[in-house]
Amino acid sequence: MILFHVWSILLNMWLPYVSPVVPDWCYQSQHTCATPCNGPEKWYHANKDCEGRAQSPINIVHRKTLTDERLTPFQFRKYQDSFSGLIKNNGHSVQVNVPHQPYVIGGDLEKPYKVVQFHLHWGKNGGPGSEHTIDGEQYPMELHIVHMNEEHSTLEDALKDPIGVAVLGFFYEESLSANRKYDPVVRALQRIMMTGANTTLVSVSLEQLIPPQQNLSNYYRYKGSLTTPGCTESVIWTVFEKPIPLSRDQLRVFSDLQFKDGKPMVGTFRPVQPLNGRVVYRSGGAVVVASTAILLASVTMAMGLSQPD
Ligand SMILES: [Zn+2]
Repeated sequence: MILFHVWSILLNMWLPYVSPVVPDWCYQSQHTCATPCNGPEKWYHANKDCEGRAQSPINIVHRKTLTDERLTPFQFRKYQDSFSGLIKNNGHSVQVNVPHQPYVIGGDLEKPYKVVQFHLHWGKNGGPGSEHTIDGEQYPMELHIVHMNEEHSTLEDALKDPIGVAVLGFFYEESLSANRKYDPVVRALQRIMMTGANTTLVSVSLEQLIPPQQNLSNYYRYKGSLTTPGCTESVIWTVFEKPIPLSRDQLRVFSDLQFKDGKPMVGTFRPVQPLNGRVVYRSGGAVVVASTAILLASVTMAMGLSQPD
């Protein structure tokens, strides 16, 4: 009995050294969690990958992007199918798990990539809050639909593959009228204010949450990482130009969610990361070629017309 007692005292003394308690990560260091937390500038303390050379998000400078004609429009398969999924306040964001049926092909992806989950990043009461920025402009919110290569069966496996994950990023813009297609999501938020809370999002489709497909042919592409720890560099990023409209009131509801300590869940974005020589590509090569052909044809025609007979 005494031996056991001594043993447990020793164990308690040594345990903190054997398995040190890793502080939770958070978006702002000054934000006081119940326990200290690591802000973005300290994420690498727990995850070395967070100081890697190919991190996300980034600022996309349009005039420095290169057109790549292989970046054809995506085909969104089973995006129109309704599903029911768990929507959860995970303490850092709101995340919806999607049954592995919808997938994308095209867009220069070698294989079909199936949807795993989607989540959002936002600011404060509809203020700036996207993760990616375009020419320095930050949008009020950003949607990330996380896909994994169909060859993998878990996200954990896919993250070990340098091209295992494809995230589709969509910006939001403030609109005058409410986007009724977002009513189920906005209503569900009111039931998951507290960290850890979840509810079922019933009968929604991914199609209703993104712009119509014909508006999605313009996008940017680069190789990057998860934007939260572990910051794994296994993500093929696609950032669409066309934003999703939401009213100010709809955007504001996200700021009613709470972090673990009860403070408003706001500013849930990682600052932009250095490019370190990476090139950002953009779609639209084929369109340029087509318009050049039309231009040439019309010049030829005009010349033909102006020929004296
Ligand atoms: Zn994200």
